[in-house]
Amino acid sequence: MTVDLDRRGFVLAAGGAIAASAMGSSALAQTPARKLGYAIVGLGGYGLGQIIPQFKNCEHSRLVALVSGDPAKAKRVAAQYGVPEKNIYSYESYDSIRDNPDIDIVYVCLPVSMHAEYTIRAAKAGKHVMCEKPMALSSKECEAMIAACRQAGKKLMIGYRCHFEPYNLEAIRRARAGEIGKLRYFRSEHGYTAGDPTAWRLKKAMSGGGSIMDIGIYALQAARYMTGEEPVAVYAKETTDRNDPRFREVEDMIEFQLEFPSGVIGSCMSMYSANRNQILLMGDKGRIELEPATNYTGQRMWVGKGRENEITPPPGPGKNQFAGQLDHLSQCIRENREPIVAGEEGLRDIRIIEAVYQSAREKRRIVLKA
Ligand code: NAD
Repeated sequence: MTVDLDRRGFVLAAGGAIAASAMGSSALAQTPARKLGYAIVGLGGYGLGQIIPQFKNCEHSRLVALVSGDPAKAKRVAAQYGVPEKNIYSYESYDSIRDNPDIDIVYVCLPVSMHAEYTIRAAKAGKHVMCEKPMALSSKECEAMIAACRQAGKKLMIGYRCHFEPYNLEAIRRARAGEIGKLRYFRSEHGYTAGDPTAWRLKKAMSGGGSIMDIGIYALQAARYMTGEEPVAVYAKETTDRNDPRFREVEDMIEFQLEFPSGVIGSCMSMYSANRNQILLMGDKGRIELEPATNYTGQRMWVGKGRENEITPPPGPGKNQFAGQLDHLSQCIRENREPIVAGEEGLRDIRIIEAVYQSAREKRRIVLKA
């Protein structure tokens, strides 16, 4: 993998950062090192459907273990991906991963209510952690996860894959380079149509909340990494039909406005009742638009005044955003660097989401603590 650090070597003010540190260094490229071993916890739609198939595209990471409540499924998946049977764990035997030197990293792909417990248990077992978004049910849980990993001397990264996605990286680069002039506002709409009312995502105790926890968080993340600023205040309005069996416990639509220190306004719409995946950056000289913006594949981007100028970005840091994300943590561990989307980045989003909920509930603007 060749790296163009000059072009990509920017760092976001948003506490996160994109790109430079996500790249493979030339030193690494020259020294074939042992790939770091991941244990995937939770063989559901994301862990099994999206993450496990990506190890074949990784340069620094490999799949070595599975943790599942379904032994037959785990055995089948292990056979398919060449994971030895001795490296299959249940939720009960999970803590014994401490005795398995094959496992360097635990990737938590479970319902949100289980993120804190499985992250903390992994840290106590002496393993680094990749935890899916949203980081946890509450900022208090996020803080406990960060503390546990710090105490164990282990890295914690959040599965914010868009920080490794070429279209998002290119949009940031162009915005920072001033291609659309002075940024005036940011807009993002993220939603999909939720189905089964019994799904864990629609149960507050397991999800922590509705659409903003699951999909609106992409709009919030993008508002922060695209502007490179941290919001100072939020104002939110929720619209939910509580007679709809899907939305007895969690919100459907929630619209939130973020105020940034530069005067840029971030307007975000999150919903569980319509399909939408879009980001717009409006500057005084033009705009950058992505649609879809944060999907697994198929991103498109336009830069300029209208849709006449469609942009195809150069490749991102990995073979794709998933491999880029997986390899980034492996490289950070090897080089003892902090991941660009460490636990603190997940905590920031959860704190803002808590303020969004408070604003919607109390129908007032909430000032965010610095
Ligand atoms: P899923 O329901 O498809 O899978 C959840 C997994 O957890 C299953 O293997 C299930 O068996 C297991 N599980 C263990 N205990 C459970 C319990 N008590 N109730 C329900 N399931 C239980 O969910 P998913 O879509 O794979 O989501 C998992 C995590 O990944 C979530 O945190 C989600 O937000 C995240 N996710 C991230 C992305 C992304 O693009 N980064 C996309 C989808 C999901």
